[in-house]
Amino acid sequence: MTVQNQLFINGEFVDAIDGGRIDVLNPHDNSLITSIAEARQNDIDRAVAAAQAAFPAWSRMQAAERGHLLMKLADAIEANIDELVEIESRDTGHPVRDCRNLDVPRTAFTFRYFGGMADKVQGSEIPVEPGFLNYVKREPLGVVGQVVPWNFPLMFTSWKMGPALAAGNTVVLKPAELTPLSTLKIAELMAQVGFPPGVVNIVPGYGHTAGQYLAEHPQVAKIAFTGSTDVGRKIVGASAGNLKRVQLELGGKGANIVFDDANIKAAVGGSAFAIFHNQGQACIAGSRLILQESIADEFLDGFLTLAQSIRLGDPSDPSTEMGPLTSKQHQQRVLNYCDIARQEGGEILLGGKVPDDVALSGGCYVEPTVVRAQSSDRVCQEEVFGPFVAVTTFKDEEEALAIANGTQYGLGGGLWTQNLSRAHRFADQMRNGMVWVNCYKRVNPGSPFGGVGSSGYGREMGFEAMHDYTEAKSVWINVDAQIPPFYPR
Ligand code: NAP
Ligand code: MG
Repeated sequence: MTVQNQLFINGEFVDAIDGGRIDVLNPHDNSLITSIAEARQNDIDRAVAAAQAAFPAWSRMQAAERGHLLMKLADAIEANIDELVEIESRDTGHPVRDCRNLDVPRTAFTFRYFGGMADKVQGSEIPVEPGFLNYVKREPLGVVGQVVPWNFPLMFTSWKMGPALAAGNTVVLKPAELTPLSTLKIAELMAQVGFPPGVVNIVPGYGHTAGQYLAEHPQVAKIAFTGSTDVGRKIVGASAGNLKRVQLELGGKGANIVFDDANIKAAVGGSAFAIFHNQGQACIAGSRLILQESIADEFLDGFLTLAQSIRLGDPSDPSTEMGPLTSKQHQQRVLNYCDIARQEGGEILLGGKVPDDVALSGGCYVEPTVVRAQSSDRVCQEEVFGPFVAVTTFKDEEEALAIANGTQYGLGGGLWTQNLSRAHRFADQMRNGMVWVNCYKRVNPGSPFGGVGSSGYGREMGFEAMHDYTEAKSVWINVDAQIPPFYPR
């Protein structure tokens, strides 16, 4: 496996001006993969200047041609699947099985979708006073800054870059310094398939330096951020200088409600996927399991048995179903929540610790963890972002809704029921950006993705994302209107 470990600016891999480097580790055993160049202010300035210089030609290029380049990138991703699977798995700890079935194909799928979208975004003509033509164009914003976290680095690169580029913006993207390697590989493929220099620039670096500076940058027209709510607030503050646009995807505390009329077997499987896929490191994880009292025991029997059977281990083993968390620091954070659960009087029904297997002791592993808690407990209110699910129970629909809507977050949530009226009623009443009924964590590049409340604002995916990456311009033409003089003289 060869990896890029420099910055990608103006179509070339280059060293950082200030020469800093950051170690990139494999969370399976914390061994060193490589050390990457660390972008600081000078490098961000260089990247923004390159993106600014590339903007006029890129934004005026025929939209279908921009789209074609994105489709060629999707093809290149598929042609390089083996290498991308290896890079993503080693850098993040995602099992190769997931990288092959989800991370890589979904990345190609998303780039291809937005490739097709490039020439589908249309303006409109407004029926104004006779004699005037008023039309609305959708124009790109300019240089867009994007800050991507470490939980799905490859996939989120496509979510962020796809709509921005399709709409005609140029991009400066900062991957998390923990997991920059797949994004740098994408940059290499972009250069290969013919993206003009400067259209995309990748600047790995620390959030509080490179990320903050990018969010403050006066020549950046929009900042798109995925990460924690606390950092989201800093991004909003940083944006104020030039009033840049902001799009925030800040995580959640997904309510996953199981009613007594649900198909229990389907709900057990879907609920395990909702929390344990990607080691629970997902903003839309179903991290609160909210069970109707009458079926709670039956459900938990099946759920605990399934959770216990999840094959935890080396992500490079094709049979592994759950890998390590992405960093030592994050492992400690999740283990700390296990302690908080105990202190709060929560009952640990499963896990709550690192695995006993000595082969995994050098890595960032945490066992699938199930905790019975009260809905006001910290473990039911704060995002743990690990293989950690908090279980509560309810008597009736009203109580279920109060629990579901009872956090500061509002990203994704869902319910399991065979009652059609209840499904619609709940979908209407859940204070969320996304609701799933008899499924969980469904995502498609055409369907808007984002949240309300402390989960942020703005939407990724679909026409909504294209809208958020463009500005409306209203143009008035006097075709043959006789305008009475405003100051008759
Ligand atoms: P984070 O601090 O919010 O980091 C997310 C990204 O933002 C990283 O690339 C980070 O860079 C960057 N960043 C940090 N400070 C910044 C600043 N002042 N200005 C601009 N960018 C900045 O999240 P984290 O520390 O990685 O994880 C903490 C918690 O956040 C998690 O446990 C989870 O609850 C939540 N989270 C949510 C999502 C999500 O999908 N919504 C993703 C990741 C984390 P560095 O890597 O250098 O810090
Ligand atoms: Mg890593």
